[in-house]
Amino acid sequence: MPTDEFNRKWYWDFRKNAWYCLRCNNCKWIDNWEVKDARFARICPSNAYYLFDTYAAQGRMDVSLDLIDGVLKYEDDPEILDILYACNTCGGCDVMCKGVHDMSPINVILEMRAKMVEDGQLLPQYLPILESLRREDNTMLGKKADRGKWAEGLGIKNLAEESAEVAFFTGCRFSFDEELWKIPRAIAGIFKDAGVDFGIMGKDENCCGSRPAQMGFKGEFTKYAENNIDAWKNAGVKTVVTACSDGYYAMKRLYPEVGSKVEVLHMVEFLARLIEQGKIKLTKKVPMKVTYHDPCHLGRRLSQAISVFNPNERSMGIYEPPRDIIKAIPGVEMVEMFRNRECAWCCGAGGGVIDTYPDFNSYTATQRIIEAQETGAEAIVTACPWCERSLGDAIKETGAKIKVIDLVELVDSARQRGGK
Ligand code: SF4
Ligand code: SF4
Repeated sequence: MPTDEFNRKWYWDFRKNAWYCLRCNNCKWIDNWEVKDARFARICPSNAYYLFDTYAAQGRMDVSLDLIDGVLKYEDDPEILDILYACNTCGGCDVMCKGVHDMSPINVILEMRAKMVEDGQLLPQYLPILESLRREDNTMLGKKADRGKWAEGLGIKNLAEESAEVAFFTGCRFSFDEELWKIPRAIAGIFKDAGVDFGIMGKDENCCGSRPAQMGFKGEFTKYAENNIDAWKNAGVKTVVTACSDGYYAMKRLYPEVGSKVEVLHMVEFLARLIEQGKIKLTKKVPMKVTYHDPCHLGRRLSQAISVFNPNERSMGIYEPPRDIIKAIPGVEMVEMFRNRECAWCCGAGGGVIDTYPDFNSYTATQRIIEAQETGAEAIVTACPWCERSLGDAIKETGAKIKVIDLVELVDSARQRGGK
């Protein structure tokens, strides 16, 4: 991914970051002025679940420093792998740490994972995912040939053969999670009605590389980023739109390092643009009380990459646009959870945890469902297929009386069609 010079600088930076840790505990809790209820004061899911300091950023800094300096060796304790891999890479620690200290624990954790992959220290649970990436270019253990199946019968342009102004990047989860196909299908309908010139890569779409990067597979990330950038160039694409927050983070924040020049928008931003242009009219009443779950990679993770990847670009998480869209829908009542925006609790899926630590994943998602139910909302609206899968599964497991929906579904129910 980055240049050698970049790597050398970053290697020094991340050791220095780990060394700088004050052991202050800030990375375990949301800012105290943001605490509205003691039950919802934590920010680090892995610390809350495993209840050991080593499973918070603070302990991970100690373990990382000792591994970098050779004081600790992988063979000293098999749990070292869990300490660094059982982390959602949600970035909650990073936001809270930055409140007291100029360092980036999340980047240390991510770099340590890359180092562990380089050192051959893989979780056995990673092997089928790695195999799926190498053979089928996706993280979902699906067949490459089936990647565009969700779009069958919709008559969408195939960007491997035709040009279009906008590429809709579906991503691994939406492509292979059949229960979620209704969302990209709704997006296709919205695009068509709004007159957007768009296409998809279908079976020729690759993984975006975001999940592999979170798991430490930098080589896979670079390969996929380069393939996708080339494919968009060949199809004359000017704007890439995705409804996956993980993918958006990678394409927006990491791809410029690999030479990407196209405009990248999350579906939330594209919806806001279409609404502003009058191409979507939210006229139908949707009587529903909802709360909004901020996906980590559409929120706080976006702002954390500034200093490393795009030093000159100011960026903040996308917090207000989804809320503005929800509030513009007639009949919808929007209520906030105790932890929102930068302080949002992760859905539990991130960092590969959905595939590697199912119990921890389920605990984290269930905590979010409990918090959402406290608001009295009938539905959790969000904007990421990983959150939808993780929260949706927790709802099924617990029998909670709440549902999870994508912002696209809400907009689709409220938009005017054919003058009505
Ligand atoms: S990224 Fe999230 S899960 Fe990992 S240490 Fe930080 S707060 Fe905890
Ligand atoms: S908040 Fe930052 S400095 Fe404080 S213990 Fe956590 S990682 Fe270390």
